[in-house]
Amino acid sequence: MNVESNNKSRIVILGAGLTGLSAAWKLSGQGYPVTVIDRNPFTGGLATTFSRDGYIFDYGPHRYHTRNDALVDEVADLLKGALDRRVRNTHFYFDNRYFQYPLKAENIFSVMDFRQVVKCAASYMAAAARRRVMPAKDRNFESWCKSRFGAELYNYFFGPYTEKVWGVPPTQMSVRWAAQRIAVESLWDAFVRLFNEKRQIRNPYEYTHSPYVSEFFYPMAGIGHICERLRAETESAGGRVRIGTNVDKLLLDGNGAASGVVVSSVGKVEEVPADFVISTLPINDLVLMAEPAAPREITAAAGNLRFRSTKFLFLMLNQHKVTSDHWIYFADNSVLFNRLSEMRNFTPMAAPWNRTSLTLEISCDRGDEIWDQSADWLYERCIDDLESAGLTDRSRVEGYWTERASTTYPVYLTDFDINLALTKRHLSGIENLITCGRQGLFTYVNMDHAMMMGFEAAEGVIEGKAQAALHLIGSEQLYFG
Ligand SMILES: Cc1cc2nc3c(=O)[nH]c(=O)nc-3n(C[C@H](O)[C@H](O)[C@H](O)COP(=O)(O)OP(=O)(O)OC[C@H]3O[C@@H](n4cnc5c(N)ncnc54)[C@H](O)[C@@H]3O)c2cc1C
Repeated sequence: MNVESNNKSRIVILGAGLTGLSAAWKLSGQGYPVTVIDRNPFTGGLATTFSRDGYIFDYGPHRYHTRNDALVDEVADLLKGALDRRVRNTHFYFDNRYFQYPLKAENIFSVMDFRQVVKCAASYMAAAARRRVMPAKDRNFESWCKSRFGAELYNYFFGPYTEKVWGVPPTQMSVRWAAQRIAVESLWDAFVRLFNEKRQIRNPYEYTHSPYVSEFFYPMAGIGHICERLRAETESAGGRVRIGTNVDKLLLDGNGAASGVVVSSVGKVEEVPADFVISTLPINDLVLMAEPAAPREITAAAGNLRFRSTKFLFLMLNQHKVTSDHWIYFADNSVLFNRLSEMRNFTPMAAPWNRTSLTLEISCDRGDEIWDQSADWLYERCIDDLESAGLTDRSRVEGYWTERASTTYPVYLTDFDINLALTKRHLSGIENLITCGRQGLFTYVNMDHAMMMGFEAAEGVIEGKAQAALHLIGSEQLYFG
């Protein structure tokens, strides 16, 4: 369908995160009537910023980086210049010690004692020899890891950390994941270089250049400022942004085309007709909400796609600064949170004078025991770890609160490729629907990719282009870490 010929076409965009609002901005700027719908009472999706008691908080550290210089200029213009450049500073904490991150080869000896290094080296060499003599197909994350780097290093660090973050045994994680976790690459890379400086790590999904981004951009008023501006521009061009409105159903007509959505807000249910739908909703939810329902094999495939959720604990502290880091990874299983970040190091507007804050990210699954925990419970569970890591103490804490996000990371289980392919193929049969964004394509994309997907989706509507280009965005394997 080409809506260029009919610019009265109603375009409904599901989700007011970066992808949805970027599409809305481009379309409304060209006079297309767009309606953006989001269930949250705020815009921005994962890239939102909360204000509370003079503090601002993001959903964990969000740094803007891209290889697309034109996009940075566009974002800077959008923010009227309120975009700062920062030099990244990050560490990881493991076994009661802090290490620079990304790890350098020479730091290996400070991570492990000499006996551990020797054991890991022996196991690494045995694995390398086995691979040469009897190369075996990698079945999952664990076998990929062990066959390249040995069981010792895997059992010491990667296995436990992977399980902590993903909540499933590494035997259930896809090999694809091994290529996508920078923390893992970093330590492996450093470890292997220690024993063989010249050797390059061979990775079947090799990234094209160094994945570590040492500089990044950050909006002075918080990452959510980008979406606030996208929303303001969309509305001033005549677009409509409806927040606090849940999309319950995707309606398909007799020809299998999208004819609208059913939404609900504060008990009111209504139908919103559409000539074209851009969806940034989780791809599994989108398939499962279609009416009439998709064939059973498709709903089963979509139902098998899983997202990991995150609980965020925000602490407000009577302390000028806790660290100089943007964030610190916490690899030990005994510590509940995976990562801690300090917003003050992103922007001085993060906290009132002489105060700072910490954000703790705790991995969980929707509906599990962490998902439903109160702020008090989480605080009590985390404060001792913060104290023993030498970061802060109870007397400094002036307040804390919690938020949660249900679809923070797509989980690459061993069978996800096939389930995703079936799901996408089914949706591509709906000619006036584009599914895109991090949730809509079930892919690890960063904020620049989300914006580019939004732009590409808008082009798709304007020019009636195929969605193919969307799948290429972010596929160069440059991940945040
Ligand atoms: C902890 C964390 C840290 C990150 N750090 C970085 C970083 O440093 N740099 C970087 O570039 N990227 C980072 N990212 C990734 C970045 O946040 C995302 O790529 C980007 O925000 C995705 O935007 P999106 O619009 O595609 O998805 P989302 O932001 O998830 O938007 C989807 C929207 O759909 C809405 N929705 C879902 N279901 C329904 C429904 N049924 N009805 C109505 N609305 C619905 C949601 O409320 C949401 O607003 C990070 C992500 C996380 C989780």
